[in-house]
Amino acid sequence: MPTPSHRESQVSLTAVIRAARPSKAPVDPWRPYAFLVEPEHAANGCVEEVATLFLTNRECPFTCLYCDLWKQTLDERVPVGAIPAQIEYALSQLGLEREGGHSVRTIKLYNSGNFFDPQAIPPEDYPAIAALLRPFDTVIVENHPKLCGERVLEFRGLLPGATTLEVALGLETAHPQILEQMNKQMTADDFSAAARWLAARDIAVRAFILLKPPYMRQEECVDWAVRSLVLAFDSGARCCTVIPTRAGNGMMDQLQLAGDFSPPPLSALEAVSQAGLKLNRGRVFVDLWDVEKLFPADGTGPSRAKRLQAINLSQLFT
Ligand code: SF4
Repeated sequence: MPTPSHRESQVSLTAVIRAARPSKAPVDPWRPYAFLVEPEHAANGCVEEVATLFLTNRECPFTCLYCDLWKQTLDERVPVGAIPAQIEYALSQLGLEREGGHSVRTIKLYNSGNFFDPQAIPPEDYPAIAALLRPFDTVIVENHPKLCGERVLEFRGLLPGATTLEVALGLETAHPQILEQMNKQMTADDFSAAARWLAARDIAVRAFILLKPPYMRQEECVDWAVRSLVLAFDSGARCCTVIPTRAGNGMMDQLQLAGDFSPPPLSALEAVSQAGLKLNRGRVFVDLWDVEKLFPADGTGPSRAKRLQAINLSQLFT
């Protein structure tokens, strides 16, 4: 249990983070805010097409320092029926609504928060969601380590027995002080406990790791990312995605101005990709969304980003 003073400082940090925010984007509770199909190196070693649906729902309550996912969220819980309607809409737009009518076997339902938060995804909708997911062999959702419990098993029980459920958990960093400063409201031990709990129930785990979170010096960022990868794999994760930390949520921009944050260089992303794959513990992806912002001035950025994309797909460092 946090002490009263710890609790108070958490409340005030949350208030500071919220006060720094720019406004949210307008979103519709009956439409996902984005959806796409892209290739990914699958657990079976093949490159497969994966559908990702970015569901619109109520904002995550954790208010992490670095998070910008709240931008496409609502202040209120969505009505019962809205999430299945969003999934149905995205699947029909992507041509994936019919079982056997396509080659996409994996779906990610990312909800800018925690799938098993009942204020985000209404549990009343689990049966309808599970029915819509029947065409897929692997279902991936994201969730906070502290929200892994009976609801995960309830949802798992609604999927066909042969379907793999994978839960993506944010570890962010194994650095204990920085993890606490980021207002994630969990420790690395909480992450490990959740990952082990899921793995023990035959639920796959993927982990998100931040490269160069705020307050971390550049010269130590690759080392801490690799230590975080090791911790995630030791806890039962089967694959990890390393995300270059970015500004843009208000708070991170303030930290950047104060000298407490700067984005990692592209060379650090390359180094962690190589070191992560060398571990030979599982798949390691580096997130290339907005990678242009990390490009150096020497014009090498586009070809280096292309190479990282090829490494993501092959899982071979070339
Ligand atoms: S738990 Fe995830 S979604 Fe929620 S605030 Fe933190 S980073 Fe954002």
